[in-house]
Amino acid sequence: MLMKKKVIYSFLLLIIVLLTACSSDDTPVINVKEPPLYQSTVEYGEPNLITDNKGPLWVYIRFPAAGNATDEIIAEWVRDIHKSSHDEIAELRASDPKAEGEINVQFDSYYVDDRYAGILENGMFMSSHKAHPMEFVRTFNIDTKKETLLDNTDILDYSQSENILNLLRGRIAEEYPQAVDHLGETDEKWLEHIAIGHEGIIVILERSKYLPSYLGTLKITLPYHKLGSAYILGTDLVPESPTEPPAKPPTKPIVPNAPPQSGDIDPSKPMVALTFDDGPSRYTSRILDILEIYGARATFCVLGNLVNARSDTVQRAFDLGCEIIGHSWDHRDLSKLTVDEITQELNETSDAIESITGVWPKLYRPPYGAVNNTLKSVSADLGYAIVYWSVDPLDWDTRNADKVYDAIMAKTDDRAIILSHDLYGSTADAMERVIPDLISKGYQLVTVSELMHYSNITLEAGIVYYDGK
Ligand code: ZN
Repeated sequence: MLMKKKVIYSFLLLIIVLLTACSSDDTPVINVKEPPLYQSTVEYGEPNLITDNKGPLWVYIRFPAAGNATDEIIAEWVRDIHKSSHDEIAELRASDPKAEGEINVQFDSYYVDDRYAGILENGMFMSSHKAHPMEFVRTFNIDTKKETLLDNTDILDYSQSENILNLLRGRIAEEYPQAVDHLGETDEKWLEHIAIGHEGIIVILERSKYLPSYLGTLKITLPYHKLGSAYILGTDLVPESPTEPPAKPPTKPIVPNAPPQSGDIDPSKPMVALTFDDGPSRYTSRILDILEIYGARATFCVLGNLVNARSDTVQRAFDLGCEIIGHSWDHRDLSKLTVDEITQELNETSDAIESITGVWPKLYRPPYGAVNNTLKSVSADLGYAIVYWSVDPLDWDTRNADKVYDAIMAKTDDRAIILSHDLYGSTADAMERVIPDLISKGYQLVTVSELMHYSNITLEAGIVYYDGK
């Protein structure tokens, strides 16, 4: 491995896989489409988020909290990886003021019954001084009654490891026939990262650690019924009834304080487009409630990996006349990705949106607003226009409803596109006043596509749009 020592030390708690482009078994002879590792996030606890949208370390870290003592263990892990990536960028900047980086961490969670949950955290750290991202994986298996983490030996009977590994080899061979020649060395180390899942034990095999790197990081499920007595957690193999996620935060009833906007849009009158990034989240419905009361519409720039878990919210937004567009699959900085990766990020997100709304979006908003020529040319080839904004209330940074309200009211002018995030309760609070007050000031609240249409702007693929002026 060519990994720098300081990097190893800075990520002591993690198992790190450095992507090596030069190892001999690494030739991408077969084009493998990597399945996304994380798909649903609403089952265990509620998602927490750490973001930084202004650099030099761009941050998007999701992790769950369920109100028990193990929350702090996960949060501490998150703080450690955040801090070590932050420190590394700070160190690089001491000699190169232009150094920058990105950390992106996602999670997937599973409830097996009302007691046990498995969490998979998966992420990458990239700096401008590295040729490849560092990937990392961490699983947490939680006994929610005792409020402790489970050891792997609480879950699997390692005296039966040969049977378990046979099952693992069989599952890998089924799903990844091209991996068959590389299964000779399978040993217990391959079971290092396991998570208890709905249908079985999920085994995470990090990219290039055991198998050729072109296979990516693999997520293999060993079904409970095939594990038999090797699964020793002592829970029912299949839950009788899936556990309800924790109750949603209480929402105050919204009392309208202004009349709704009129039904038809008058192109000669002022209009603006509210846009909400990074959802759908638990706060999205509240924003939809406000939009509905005032007959207003907005544009939701959603993350592909979140939409299936909240497909009802996406459907409702669409039914209210809102526009649903993509914001990438998992909030990667698209300007740092290859053509194939960009294509996958954009099109899989559009697929997920289309599967709910029936409409393939022709525009998207890039995470961090990060755009380069490659991204523009791929967007042109794929038929996407790129949506920026003209008003940024920095809601992700202040998380303060008054400040968000003041910034939007002070900066908004006719044909503006207003950026905010349906991730924060403070933003939803601000919208209770922003939406009626913009309408009272004479603005019609429309979607981005409507704003462009009524402003006689024809959207062109590969072009960035800031407003409707
Ligand atoms: Zn974003």
